[in-house]
Amino acid sequence: MSRKQSLDTICIQGGWKPKNGEPRVLPIYQSTTFKYETSEQMGRLFDLEEDGYFYTRLANPTNDAVADKICRLEGGAAAMLTSSGQAANMYAVLNICSAGDHIVCAATIYGGTSNLFTVTLKRFGIECTLVDPDAPEEELDKAFRENTKAVFGETIANPALVVLDLEKFAGLAHRHNVPFIVDNTFATPINCRPFEWGADIVTHSTTKYMDGHAMAVGGCIVDSGNFDWEAYGEKFPGLTTPDESYHGVVYTERFGKGAYITKATVQLMRDMGSIQSPQNAFLLNVGLETLHLRMPRHCENALKVAEYLKSRDDVAWVNYPGLKGDKYHDLAEKYMPNGTCGVISFGLKGGRAAAAEFMDRLKLAAIVTHVADARTSVLHPASHTHRQLSDQQLIEAGVDPAMIRFSTGLEASEDIIGDIEQALG
Ligand SMILES: *Cc1c(COP(=O)(O)O)cnc(C)c1O
Repeated sequence: MSRKQSLDTICIQGGWKPKNGEPRVLPIYQSTTFKYETSEQMGRLFDLEEDGYFYTRLANPTNDAVADKICRLEGGAAAMLTSSGQAANMYAVLNICSAGDHIVCAATIYGGTSNLFTVTLKRFGIECTLVDPDAPEEELDKAFRENTKAVFGETIANPALVVLDLEKFAGLAHRHNVPFIVDNTFATPINCRPFEWGADIVTHSTTKYMDGHAMAVGGCIVDSGNFDWEAYGEKFPGLTTPDESYHGVVYTERFGKGAYITKATVQLMRDMGSIQSPQNAFLLNVGLETLHLRMPRHCENALKVAEYLKSRDDVAWVNYPGLKGDKYHDLAEKYMPNGTCGVISFGLKGGRAAAAEFMDRLKLAAIVTHVADARTSVLHPASHTHRQLSDQQLIEAGVDPAMIRFSTGLEASEDIIGDIEQALG
């Protein structure tokens, strides 16, 4: 009897399974191509009649081992790596949407994803309706149209730190016969496994906690294999009718629970080519080997920092879903009882000017455009990522001009708090 392995063990040993005499550590298959004895053999690979590698744009053994590890951590059926989190979210949507289609998306999502969906995909003829994730279901129902093909949200929104009510959104998507796609970057599968709450597809910017050391940009898409594409075949003809660009293959018939990821690989990745380099996949795997140890420490440190900030008179507000009394604490307790993430946002009573002065005085925490790193890092959205907006426009975009995004690292909490203390003065 095989027992289901714990996430800790999968972090360390999942993915690469060396055979007798093979390297213990995942090798980097630094090769664009793979050699065959006969032309016939190679032909069968192109027809998808046999499994095998032929060109790294489609598949590479290093990448596959890492995708398999993430797939097991999420409890999925199939997974693929992409060159970035942006590419993961783009493929996750383009795999089931064409010009004339529509998606429903939580308004609080990451700015890069929001731009992709509402500006760039719009130019491709795909429309996106942004909805308030806290709105009641009757309100959310109104966002759906005949041509809606997916619902999208983030478990913990970057940087809004809104915890999504996963069951509510899964119910909503399924009532409208479409899949629920969740970007699980901030929580990671260590703290939340969206498939257990009804999500159908999970995406990641592996650039963040999974890598964890700010070394490599990357992304991942995991499919639960649970969405019944054939039951709503008229909505998803790309999966349920012959693909003429691949000898008439019908993905759902040939690949079952692997249909969605196979299509995204042999069609989208073939044509658009945003692959993760095997070198980056190797670095990502090293990060994953300690994800189960790092996440609890990020959360423990962040809670201490959030509590300290809360106790200060010069701090106007603190958002951290792990903090008791936070607007999203109850949802966090339900969906991620072991912890949320290491990112906190807060504002100083002195507003925008005080935020810039505070950040300039930090010594341990570095000003960087990044989050979810082992090193504590800090960013002022009004001066950096949202710099082109006026204070009024910032407020309309839901970004407080005073907001500081603080990504708590893995240093000793007393040193992080000491740094904040001296910078606040
Ligand atoms: C950073 C981020 C992305 C984009 O990922 P990249 O790897 O930077 O392309 C997408 N979603 C979330 C939640 C993120 O934090």
